[in-house]
Amino acid sequence: MVLLKESRPIVLAFIRLLSLLSSFYQIHFQQQTMKINNLFFLFTLVIVTLARGDECLIQPPYTGLSVVKLTFSDVESREKILSDLSEICEIKAVQDEYTDPNADSVELILTQEQLIRAEKLLPSRSIRVLMGDLGAAISHERETSLVSPAESEGFCTDDTCSSDSLVAGTVDTEYYTKYHSYEDFLQRWETLASTYSDYVKLETIGSTLEGRKIHMFRVGQTSEEKPIRILFNAMQHAREWITTMCVLHTVETLAADAHRKKAWSSNVQILVVPIVNPDGFVYSHATDRMWRKNRNPARSCRGGPAGVDLNRNWGLDFAGCESTSSDPCSDIYTGPEAFSELETQALKKLFETEKGLKAHIDVHSFSQLVLGRWSYSDDPPPNMEEVNKLGNLLNEKLSSGGKQYSYARGKTDLIYLASGVMPDWVYDAHNVMSFTYELRPKSMWEGGFMLPANQIIPSAEEFLESVKALIDYVTE
Ligand SMILES: [Zn+2]
Repeated sequence: MVLLKESRPIVLAFIRLLSLLSSFYQIHFQQQTMKINNLFFLFTLVIVTLARGDECLIQPPYTGLSVVKLTFSDVESREKILSDLSEICEIKAVQDEYTDPNADSVELILTQEQLIRAEKLLPSRSIRVLMGDLGAAISHERETSLVSPAESEGFCTDDTCSSDSLVAGTVDTEYYTKYHSYEDFLQRWETLASTYSDYVKLETIGSTLEGRKIHMFRVGQTSEEKPIRILFNAMQHAREWITTMCVLHTVETLAADAHRKKAWSSNVQILVVPIVNPDGFVYSHATDRMWRKNRNPARSCRGGPAGVDLNRNWGLDFAGCESTSSDPCSDIYTGPEAFSELETQALKKLFETEKGLKAHIDVHSFSQLVLGRWSYSDDPPPNMEEVNKLGNLLNEKLSSGGKQYSYARGKTDLIYLASGVMPDWVYDAHNVMSFTYELRPKSMWEGGFMLPANQIIPSAEEFLESVKALIDYVTE
């Protein structure tokens, strides 16, 4: 939807009026200030985008675009500067759920013209260029961190091919030195299941609009009548490639341990959905490295499927006021109703049918965070003490690799909340302890979604430490 040029002055006048109202509320309703600011920020982004039109879009291959962190002195300055920048090109933020604990700063993808304008409007100390050329960074990742089609061929057809042969009882660390394509993963998953047929089952829990299966590993042999189960799911968001590498490494390690009779699994089963959003993942490989949502074409955006943010499509506080959008072009588009998407339906059904679930981790990147409940509200969860205790334990284990993670919950820690997210629904609807992980790195400065491949194994190892701690916790 694009507003006519004639109506833009009216819209901009409306924005100025909102700005005055926001100032008024800040003075008189201090306790509500942050919430109003957040609402105002999101609302303004939508309005200025509508007012600007589609003449300049931030889109692949992102050549010459910078990722920049802007810090504002106050909310008026932020709104004015973002409004000014939006007159040049659209405003596109790069963050996952709650990566910015400071409401006065934001990480954006900017054109060079926008960056020059920002430099005129803000003091230099308020501008930090995190990535000089996003397009070049994406190309660099493809050349250095991704298994090439030729290598992929080698992985799968050569005698020494590591995707179709595994040595039972050992972890094939070579596989975790680069990122893999969807086809590579499928091959590897079959190999894992056949190598460890006593301990690993590869199941299908649903399928997508583009016809791909949503797979799940069931790891651990159990003869118990009532086994304890833990569920991990990765890649609700397509661009978060490190998440699948980490959960896959965990599946392989636990299977190898079980094979060597290292007892971890006598009455525990680990369920792992390695890619919740395969359509989005394939698209992030083929076309848009920064793609986040699924590929639902029910609503279109810029001539293609708008897609739905799967982690805004869950039933608790669906389409609430925290970090959601009804604009199909938005990265946080909720979809038309809760559980409108095949992917969220598949996982919902899993929770409704799987017995004995004691804990759940929704794995994302990036920011190095463990997030406890709630995400949609600052209210304490029913057993906040236990939530905080386990959250801090997981955080400590994730930090064991030398990178400092932070445990956070509620507005005190995060400021930006989020409505309609998976772990909130899991905890509320099924009383299962549920956390969000935001894996490495800390910021776009260190690669953001494009975590260098030499950090896959360190990330996977610290992730595994947290998994083992969680297994111990639920079996104590
Ligand atoms: Zn995410």
